[in-house]
Amino acid sequence: MTQPPSRRPIVAANWKMNTGPDDGANLARAVAAEDLPFADVDVVLCPPATGLAAVAAALRSTPIAVGGQHVHWESDGAYTGEISVSMLGGIATYAITGHSERRQLFGETDLDVRRKTLAILAGGLTPIVAVGETLDQRDAGQTVEVLRSQITLVFDALTPSQAASSVIAYEPVWAIGTGRNATPEQAQEAIGWIRDTVAAAQGLAAADQVRIQYGGSVSPENCEELLSRHGIDGALVGGASLDAGKFAAIVRAAAS
Ligand code: PEP
Repeated sequence: MTQPPSRRPIVAANWKMNTGPDDGANLARAVAAEDLPFADVDVVLCPPATGLAAVAAALRSTPIAVGGQHVHWESDGAYTGEISVSMLGGIATYAITGHSERRQLFGETDLDVRRKTLAILAGGLTPIVAVGETLDQRDAGQTVEVLRSQITLVFDALTPSQAASSVIAYEPVWAIGTGRNATPEQAQEAIGWIRDTVAAAQGLAAADQVRIQYGGSVSPENCEELLSRHGIDGALVGGASLDAGKFAAIVRAAAS
């Protein structure tokens, strides 16, 4: 179902720790050559940090946006290995925060995600705030509480217009990189809880405008049934985004 104009679908590619500058630029050019329906969908590629400039250069004359996978909340200083939002300036217009791999492997907390989201917005970029429950939490019936708490801690700190212009990615941890996607019903239900939580934090107008993607083993095979569901405003795609043809199929499904 087509979403209201304020909720154009958005499909973002998370290349994770794959591709260097040259093969990243080649992959970006391959995506750009796919004749995508840009009138109906926003497309974002998130390469690793070393590939950001090359990918941005490869996409310069296209509507495809570039996003960072990770930022620090401080603007500069003694934070070895980190990247600030201002360092993405002129290169990226989006930044992912709260990805479950950052949470699980690198100890990123909800408070970190809040600080990073605020820094991303203050720097004029659009955050893609990733949230989601683990399998244990789902099996224990805690999904709704987990999502509420992850979203509230971040969205309570925003203004309604910041909330409205943000992107949220619902990514059940058990579906990421596992080949086991959430069912369309599970994704739609969880996204409904997330939208209700944004409404409680920032009002109905913000909740109506915030775009909420589904992420977790999205593929050309399952994208139609997931992305045709009302309320699912696109996808955050990991593995399948490393293949231009597969990623393009997902973009087309989001636009239709
Ligand atoms: C992701 O990394 O955000 C993701 C959804 O990965 P995958 O599509 O590989 O499950």
